[in-house]
Amino acid sequence: MRYFFSAILILFFSCGIFSQQKVAVDYCDYEIGDSVVTFVLENPLSKKEIVFINVHENEATSIAALNQFDVRDEYKFFWLNHNATRRIFYNHKEEVFSVDPNRIFSHDGIVATLAYDTICNRKAEKMAKALAHEILKFVHDAKWIISLHNNTPDNYSIKSYLPGGDEALNTKEVFINDSMDTDDFIYTTNQYLFDELKKKNINVILQDNINCINDGSLSVYCGFKGIPYANVEAEDGHLNEQIFLIKEVVSIIEGRVTSQ
Ligand SMILES: [Zn+2]
Repeated sequence: MRYFFSAILILFFSCGIFSQQKVAVDYCDYEIGDSVVTFVLENPLSKKEIVFINVHENEATSIAALNQFDVRDEYKFFWLNHNATRRIFYNHKEEVFSVDPNRIFSHDGIVATLAYDTICNRKAEKMAKALAHEILKFVHDAKWIISLHNNTPDNYSIKSYLPGGDEALNTKEVFINDSMDTDDFIYTTNQYLFDELKKKNINVILQDNINCINDGSLSVYCGFKGIPYANVEAEDGHLNEQIFLIKEVVSIIEGRVTSQ
């Protein structure tokens, strides 16, 4: 095997409102070319049906939001540790490649994300595909995948999903609360979650799981596979807003599970 596995139990004892926290963390160093990406899995023994995932390590607000939400350490949380950058850089025979780790879940996505920044060849494609395969192992048993992302107040927002917007072709339905920041929203593959968030007057987009462009993102992968998925998206620095959105999504999902 090209990676080794280590399991470390870390015990945190902190004062204050959180009293005692116990966090179990698995670290797995994965070699890609001459580089290493560390897979981090918090609470690996959790039996919860939700698994949280962050693949963009530079989106620090989202990691902080999840850790503040999950003070009782109940949920699996998978994230990539690699130079704190959005893209994963790796090399092979002195050629350097990079991919957006949220564009490697399809062949077309891999080719496009390699070509975006570097050259694309068969070996680089194969290594990116293997990375995607390893990432999916950490979420394969989830009943719900919740990814966390941050954006910046530039072009991309929930308005990108309106008719005529850059993401319109991927969109089945969109609901916008005009009093919310357009950078804070939920993106989901699941009609039930969309409907419930809309009832709560929360910004939400429903992906068109049949006609969406297969860009290699995890949302499209989950949409095609029928895996319930939500992305909790907030503007960089909107910590409280992102915690609020995480709580709302979890309460809807778990409310449905317990009512069944
Ligand atoms: Zn992201």
